[in-house]
Amino acid sequence: MGKIQRVSGPVVIAEDLEDARMYDVVRVGELGLVGEVIRLSGGLATIQVYEDTSGIRPGEKVENTHRPLSVDLGPGLLQSIYDGIQRPLDVIKELTGDFIRRGFSATPLDEKKKWEFLPTAKAGDSVTEGQFIGQVQETSIITHRIMVPYGVSGKITDIRKGEFTVSEVIATIRDESGKEHEVRLKQEWPVRVARRVMRKLPPSVPLVTGQRVIDTFFPVAKGGTVAVPGPFGSGKTVVQHQLSKWADSDIVVYVGCGERGNEMTEILTTFPELQDPKSGKPLMERTVLIANTSNMPVAAREASIYTGITIAEYYRDMGYGVALMADSTSRWAEALREISGRLEEMPGEEGYPAYLGRRLSEFYERSGNAQVVSNDERFGSISIVGAVSPPGGDISEPVSQNTLRVTRVFWALDASLASRRHFPSINWLNSYSLYQNELSKWYRENIAENWTELYSGAMGILQQESELQEVVQLVGYDALPEKEKAVLDIARMIREDFLQQSAFDEVDTYCSLKKQYRMLNAIIEMNSHQNMAIEKGLTMGQLQSLPVREKISRMKEIKEEDFDQYYEGVLKDIKDQIQNLMEE
Ligand code: ADP
Repeated sequence: MGKIQRVSGPVVIAEDLEDARMYDVVRVGELGLVGEVIRLSGGLATIQVYEDTSGIRPGEKVENTHRPLSVDLGPGLLQSIYDGIQRPLDVIKELTGDFIRRGFSATPLDEKKKWEFLPTAKAGDSVTEGQFIGQVQETSIITHRIMVPYGVSGKITDIRKGEFTVSEVIATIRDESGKEHEVRLKQEWPVRVARRVMRKLPPSVPLVTGQRVIDTFFPVAKGGTVAVPGPFGSGKTVVQHQLSKWADSDIVVYVGCGERGNEMTEILTTFPELQDPKSGKPLMERTVLIANTSNMPVAAREASIYTGITIAEYYRDMGYGVALMADSTSRWAEALREISGRLEEMPGEEGYPAYLGRRLSEFYERSGNAQVVSNDERFGSISIVGAVSPPGGDISEPVSQNTLRVTRVFWALDASLASRRHFPSINWLNSYSLYQNELSKWYRENIAENWTELYSGAMGILQQESELQEVVQLVGYDALPEKEKAVLDIARMIREDFLQQSAFDEVDTYCSLKKQYRMLNAIIEMNSHQNMAIEKGLTMGQLQSLPVREKISRMKEIKEEDFDQYYEGVLKDIKDQIQNLMEE
């Protein structure tokens, strides 16, 4: 049994902690607060404590559990709301009230609930780690596959159908040496270690979100990584909700990392009310929430992204596509900085520890597309959307910079666009996606042969617009040549009729890729015909009066099923009306 020597906020130094190893979980003080050994030197163990340490004194005991910080993985994860070390917040709240009582523990998964287990393997079968041996209907929309735990392989000697709690034995596997391994519905995994997969695959399929600015201009691949800065009021919450609802991922893991208390409360109250549009069921049926408000201890915040990604990996291993949202990784990095300060480590840039960049990349590297096990064609993915909240919106600071170094998409949410009511407020000039090239093959094969030319043409027009705006400021709009007026006209159409998309409009909240393509194609058709007319001497003044403009602006209101006909009509009108104008 160890003894506390010194307490400094979330950091405790203990002496005489026998056989302590790095990352052992310990129980600190008479209250038994949960902590983790993060440094060993000179016979002393440095412990970061996941609970408030006030009142804890030198001399109190420290017990070593000899186990790393782990999460329980099994049925019942979905619909749960956890804190950073997987304590079920809803259960704890029921038992101890709004403020979590210190040293209190509740099991992450309900130990009493019985699940109907359906074996898919039978006694005598040879199995290896990761293989499916049965399933449980976890929620009405998600089937939970039960896998042979890692490190176990052999012959099934016994497997039972029926109702079991997560801790009851459902199967027994005898390995080559004759050792029997009991398999339960739940398994454990240390959060700081990535779960193994057979191999990682390059991104090749887009994570379709139904949001035009994302899918067409700044797509993310399944298994990809995104950074989103979110200045207050820029529509960050709405973007996250839209992604949770519409992105074609099976499972959503949302890690709320130490945002202001009320903001987190908002998540905790709004998320459970969201509907999954595809199934009509509550979105929580395929969601796990991990929440840390800023008044919870910093160390728990530090752990929360590992807890989140481990749960994401577990569902990926079942062959699901998982979207993990972390909001905000800046708060997480601040926790890292605070602990590092307490450890009196040499500070790096802006006081963050020198290993900030490495930690961030280790986290993002746990994303990806994977073939999970060698003996079947099971593929799963984890896409990570990490929000950063740089102070003052200045992304030159270390957390943003280190994040941008590892993520491959950047959606620049822009407060000034939001204040002009341009939503989603993703700035098209500052944002980028490094997946465009890798995904272009998929888009060409599945949507349209000229997808790449279309989006790059449209992007070119938006860039020209931004250059022309400067000219307009100097010489005025009227002084522009007709050709340049036409550029401004089409750019406005792209912005207003294509990029702007209301999350609250019943039809426009989701837009299929096919419709996205056609909407943009109509605008680009308009561009070519208009340019042709201008070559022939027509003016923008004349072209402004065309009735088809109204029709283009209403494309977003048209339901998918009526859009084929509407689109043909738009293309025909563009041609006919410009032709008529030229003949007049
Ligand atoms: P943040 O979380 O960045 O503070 P919110 O996501 O709450 O901001 O957005 C602020 C407001 O902006 C919302 O209440 C909503 O009115 C509007 N808004 C944001 N995104 C959209 C969108 N895609 N469509 C329509 N309105 C939006």
